[in-house]
Amino acid sequence: MSGPERPSSSPETRGDPAATGSVVPIGFRERPAAILLLLVLPLASAQPSIKVQMRTQSGAKVVDLPLERYVAAVLAGESGMFQSPEALKAMAVAARTYAVRLRGRHAAEGFDFCDTTHCQRIQLDGIGARLEAAAAETAGELLWYQGKPAFTPYTRDCGGRTEDAAAIWPDLAAPYLKSREDPYCARRGSSAWQWSAEPKRILQSLHDSALRAPGDLDRIAILGRTPSGRASTLVLTGASGSVRISADSFRFAVGRELGWNTLRSDRYQVRASNGRIAFEGSGSGHGVGLCQLGAEQMGADGRSYRDILAFYYPGTVVGLTGRGLSWQRLSGDSLAMLTTQPDQDRAVLAAAERIERGIAQRTHWPVPPNLELRVYPDLDTFRNATGEPGWVAAHTEGRRIHLQPATLLRAKGALETTLAHELDHAFVESQASAAIPLWFREGLAAFLQAGRGTGAARIPTDADLRQTADADRARRAYAQAQAQVGALVQRYGETVVLGWVKRGLPAEVANASTSQAAPKSK
Ligand SMILES: [Zn+2]
Ligand SMILES: [Zn+2]
Ligand SMILES: [Zn+2]
Repeated sequence: MSGPERPSSSPETRGDPAATGSVVPIGFRERPAAILLLLVLPLASAQPSIKVQMRTQSGAKVVDLPLERYVAAVLAGESGMFQSPEALKAMAVAARTYAVRLRGRHAAEGFDFCDTTHCQRIQLDGIGARLEAAAAETAGELLWYQGKPAFTPYTRDCGGRTEDAAAIWPDLAAPYLKSREDPYCARRGSSAWQWSAEPKRILQSLHDSALRAPGDLDRIAILGRTPSGRASTLVLTGASGSVRISADSFRFAVGRELGWNTLRSDRYQVRASNGRIAFEGSGSGHGVGLCQLGAEQMGADGRSYRDILAFYYPGTVVGLTGRGLSWQRLSGDSLAMLTTQPDQDRAVLAAAERIERGIAQRTHWPVPPNLELRVYPDLDTFRNATGEPGWVAAHTEGRRIHLQPATLLRAKGALETTLAHELDHAFVESQASAAIPLWFREGLAAFLQAGRGTGAARIPTDADLRQTADADRARRAYAQAQAQVGALVQRYGETVVLGWVKRGLPAEVANASTSQAAPKSK
């Protein structure tokens, strides 16, 4: 979308899921060994994912992507070159909001988005840890305007002044997409460009795009400009007469036939010179919304992604829901907590740190650095962010622990036990070698939190542990893993069993296992 391809004339769409209050999928499907089953609540309905048409050499195919994976793929396709983490996060929110708002724009063709700049360019093989982090750190956050997801176009480089959305999409008069001076990209350095071509090449590209054109071409004049100073209407004149054409259509035709690096924007002067038509301009792309070059500069200046979004989409609100709830960070001694209700959730941070000290004393393992605890404001947001059904109380991936609303867990008497279980996981994962099987990770976390339990001691299959369709089947499998670890502790002693986490299970224990090694957590 940021690219030079012509934007769709109608950004509105049907089936806007956020507007109708249904569930938007926001989940990584790879799940390390870390779920806890304490609550029995109705299962979430099947969560839709984004259908993207990918074009490859062997043809087009439609792939299903969870929203956050789609966001990371857009970052790779549209802003993989960004240096600033805050600029990347701003782009992640813009790309996500764009996806939620315009989802289904290709519904008639059987998918939501194409993989080009017509929608958002995506690059699945370009997703790295940095881009995944930008998506994860803003997971679920959208830009809202008057209770609805905003329309969030972005552009490579506005050349020093953004464009008014209404100049490109006449039926879209969004107050947060007005033309404004951009001192940031202007400071970033010259975005000036020059391009010239023989008249007959220009005429050929207009013919190839089936646009009206004069029989021959001597000169091009700019008849009208948009409020931001970009060309809007051109007059093409030759001996045979004159033809008017929109600058947008002209640029699209030239770009498609002669390359997108020719006329980079509509922000130019044009003259005839030595038998050629010469353009001198600045900027790249349509110029509406977030200017990527300016966002990079704001990031380099130390501004946050919220500052960046507030500058390019003024009047919108960043938040997880239309209520404008957004993450606030509380830093403890060894742990950071993200919450939307800091006053209410402050006690959770204190409890978590107390539990951490207890685990460190018992295991003699150091407290894992940079742990982050995310407490969700409601069940829907939790489910959207983790992809877990409602009966899963928490979800740990790497150093990030996602927790259902504290009030909900407290009401079930499950807050402390859930925290303890997930923190046990974080300790185990910080020590575990890749070869440690899933049942052992799960069983040990449960054993540390609650002892041997009442299940039958045996090794459950990974499939039983991983599936989230059947709560009873999962609960049985977890209880078995817990009892199995309990039996091992009884036989070998806790210190020995804890030592296996780093060194790997001894052969006689590992061989009893039919379970495969769990993937190393992210
Ligand atoms: Zn667990
Ligand atoms: Zn498209
Ligand atoms: Zn700019």
